[in-house]
Parts: sequence; C-alpha cells; structure tokens
Amino acid sequence: MTTQTDVDEKVNLKSLTKGELENFTEELELQSFRSDQLFQWLYQKGVHSFDEMTNLSKDLRARLKEIATVPTIEHVRQQESEDGTIKFLFKLQGEEDHKVESVLIPEFYPDGAADRLTVCVSSQVGCVFGCSFCATGAMGFFRSLTHGEIVDQVQYIDALCEEKFGKGITNVVYMGMGEPLHNYDAVVNSANIITDELSIGLSPKRITVSTVGLTKQIKKLADERQPFNLAISLHAANDEKRDEIMPINNAMNLEQLEEAVKYYYQKLHRPITYEYLLFDEFNDTPEDARQLADIVQWVPSKVNIIMYNNVAGVALKKAREQRLDAFMQELVKRDITATVRRSRGEDIDAGCGQLAIKDGQEKGKTIRKN
Ligand code: SF4
Repeated sequence: MTTQTDVDEKVNLKSLTKGELENFTEELELQSFRSDQLFQWLYQKGVHSFDEMTNLSKDLRARLKEIATVPTIEHVRQQESEDGTIKFLFKLQGEEDHKVESVLIPEFYPDGAADRLTVCVSSQVGCVFGCSFCATGAMGFFRSLTHGEIVDQVQYIDALCEEKFGKGITNVVYMGMGEPLHNYDAVVNSANIITDELSIGLSPKRITVSTVGLTKQIKKLADERQPFNLAISLHAANDEKRDEIMPINNAMNLEQLEEAVKYYYQKLHRPITYEYLLFDEFNDTPEDARQLADIVQWVPSKVNIIMYNNVAGVALKKAREQRLDAFMQELVKRDITATVRRSRGEDIDAGCGQLAIKDGQEKGKTIRKN
C-alpha cells in the first residue's frame, strides 16, 4: 500500500548507482541519453541543484525538482600544513552535527610542479571499531556515508587541485574516518563512479580501499573481482598486541585474516599492502619486525611503516628514529619490501578524526574491548 509519506518522499539521485539512475529515467519515460546527462551533472560537473543542469529543458528540471533531490556535502573549513597537506572538513547536508574529513596529500617534483595528488576520503561519520590509537574511533559511530557523499569529497578536492595545481587528483585512498568495508556497497559504488569516464575517470589501479581486516568483505571483494587495490591496517604482528589496540582482532584474529588474504590473492593475484603504525616501545622491537615479515610473506605483499601522528589523550606514541632504524634493518634482512611513510600535516591535526572532534562532534556508539 502506498502511503502519503511514500508519495512525499523524494528520490536522492546521489544514492542511485549508474544502473539505478538508468531505471529512474526509464520510469519517467525520458530518452535514454538523459541518464548519462544526469550522471555527468552529478559526478563530473558536481552541480548542487537541478537549475544548473542547463542542457535539460526547463520543464524537465521542474519535474525533477518535484520528485528528486541532489544533496551535496558542504565545505566548512580547511587547514593547510607547512608541508602542503590540506585537511578539509565537510558538513553533511541538513545535518548540523555530522561532519567528515578528507585530506589532500600532494607530492611535488623538484621544480615545484605537482606530481602525485592523493585524496584520503572518509566513508563513515565516526567509526564503530574503536581502535585505541584512533581519534575517529574515540568519537564513536553515527552513520555510514552514501556513495554520493563519498564522491562529493573527491570531486570537491579534484576541482580545487585543477585550480591550484593545474591538474586533477591522481590517487584516492579510503583511509579517512570510518571502516570502508563496514560500508561495503557505498564504498564500491563510489569507487566505480570515480573510475567512470563520465565522472573523474581515474584508473582503478589508483584507488586503494583499506580495512582493519573484515574477512568476509575481503573475500567478497575477491569474489566480485573488484579492480581496486587492497590495504590492510595491521598495526601489530601478533594476536596479543593486536587484541590490545584493535578490538576487531578479538572477533577476527590473524589466523582468520591469513585465510582471507590467501583467498583474495588466489582469486585476484594482486599484491596486498599492509599499513603498520610504529608505536614507541609497543610494536617496534626486532621480534615484532620478524613477526611482521612472516605476515607480509603470506602472499606477495609490501608494507608501509607509518610514523604515527601523536593524538592527544592516546597513550601510544610515535616510535623513536633509532628504533625505526633497527626495525627496518630486520625487515631488510628478511627481503621485505617496506617503505617508511613520514607523517604529513603534523601541524594541522592530520590524524583521521582529529579535526572533526575539534569541531565538536557528539559521541556515538563504539565497540570497545573491556
Ligand atoms: S583506525 Fe579505522 S577502523 Fe580503527 S577506529 Fe579508526 S577509523 Fe575505525
């Protein structure tokens, strides 16, 4: 039975996939090219209203306005680091209290021209997984973003890059607020839009989806043969230490992760990247490095050793340089491909979630280890 609420409810066009948008225009009995036009307005030109869709007739725009909406996230503020990193804060449409962050990490050629322009996007407002070192985890979980809200972050920053550097973004990493695979459909749909020629047209090889290790979804990525890169936030190389800082490890331990990673590799033959935050006197001993090397050898993989951005109120601290050196030497001995990632934007609270917390987000729900 159709209720008055159903009739009144407008369709959010930015929650529809490309196929669903085609169905929507078909139901309205519009010519088939109209769905591509709408898609381009939404995801290539990034318009905020139907009035800006100038190749649609006035009548059609009026008709669409009556039945549909095109909500867009709103840029609230940004902070620029001395190293060029820019952190953005966005407000979700109609939700005063819900904000998400994105970060642009530019790299430059020696002559100062922009080389790689990486955008780190958020996939959720807050996060349910409560990792002890993470500002987003401390905030709790509010809701998942739609794919439109994820693409909006990329689009806003892509346009800014065109203006500032004369070229668009080159890479997208899903490593901002939230656990991307806990919002599987929106993340995959947004990545598919970003790679679409009628949108930004980025190569899937330039997109990395990261996860704390949700094994079911890792296998799903493999079964669906999703063409994006996979990164695993490991941060500890044995169950005891991982249990201590990442509650997810209680439910899905390293043995289960190993099985999922092997399944993924067997299906896709694509190397995996591990992310390993190095914490002082916690996970930075030579024995930790040897255990990490064992994990990196499950399947062909590489590892990024990341120097942590200290977060106020978090006991874990960034490792010291001499401990990093000893750790790296141990990995080299085991022929592991490892890169040290220096913290970017330390002067602008660039650890994910820090800016949103500063902006006064309320507390949401969290899974915590007792
Ligand atoms: S590190 Fe990732 S999964 Fe863990 S709390 Fe932060 S956002 Fe969530």
